[in-house]
Amino acid sequence: MRYFDIGVNLSSEQFAKDRADVVSRARLAGVDNMLLIGSNIQDSQQAIVLANEFSLIASAGIHPHDAKTAEDDYCQIIQNLTEQNTVVAAIGECGLDYNRDFSPRDKQREVFAAQVALANKLNKPLYMHQRDAHHDFLAIVKEAQVPGVVHCFTDSEEALEAYLELGFYIGITGWLCDERRGDTLRKLLPRIPLDKLLFETDAPYLLPRNIKPKPKSRRSEPLHIEYVAKQAAELYQRPLEEVANAAFYNAHKLFGLELA
Ligand SMILES: [Zn+2]
Repeated sequence: MRYFDIGVNLSSEQFAKDRADVVSRARLAGVDNMLLIGSNIQDSQQAIVLANEFSLIASAGIHPHDAKTAEDDYCQIIQNLTEQNTVVAAIGECGLDYNRDFSPRDKQREVFAAQVALANKLNKPLYMHQRDAHHDFLAIVKEAQVPGVVHCFTDSEEALEAYLELGFYIGITGWLCDERRGDTLRKLLPRIPLDKLLFETDAPYLLPRNIKPKPKSRRSEPLHIEYVAKQAAELYQRPLEEVANAAFYNAHKLFGLELA
């Protein structure tokens, strides 16, 4: 089985001591490629360095949590990073998070809308985050003329239908493997057409709860992506191979990569 983990925070401090091991363990487990998430300018720069070092891809953008501290010329910086580094495959992580509200909501909207416009201008896919902000998110994302993924989807049926309607891909994490917290997502999963499905670990966060035997560390790693895929296959009532292959193909298509 081959996997493409579309959401890894490899620049996290939690990977500081063993990044290369984390990547090689993942490769041995069939994870051919990963998208390293950039959540602010400095983090995007680090993601780009790591993507170059390990032959992976990265995103460049400003997460809603970081909207309040965005540089004045963040759009120009993201544009330069994207044009100067072929590993940058998407604009983001960008979006709205009204769950934590780490940035004022008007600032979140301003920074998200600017990145949607930038993605249109650069003709790059969007890597998006949405938490408890569906209606405002939808109003902004309707302006997108490029494809994109709503990563770590955990929202309602209404939100899912709206994103599918716009042609977006849906990123599924280890939330799916949580029987209590992931209940809504588990019921909605079969509504996601296989040609819109993507898998991600969001490592080092969201350790899947169905790993056996249970790992000693709570740190998630990209090698755990198979547990997300296995859970999904069960819920789709389809063979793992079919579901995993679909997600693997979709990631290549979205990020404009050739299948090796
Ligand atoms: Zn996110």
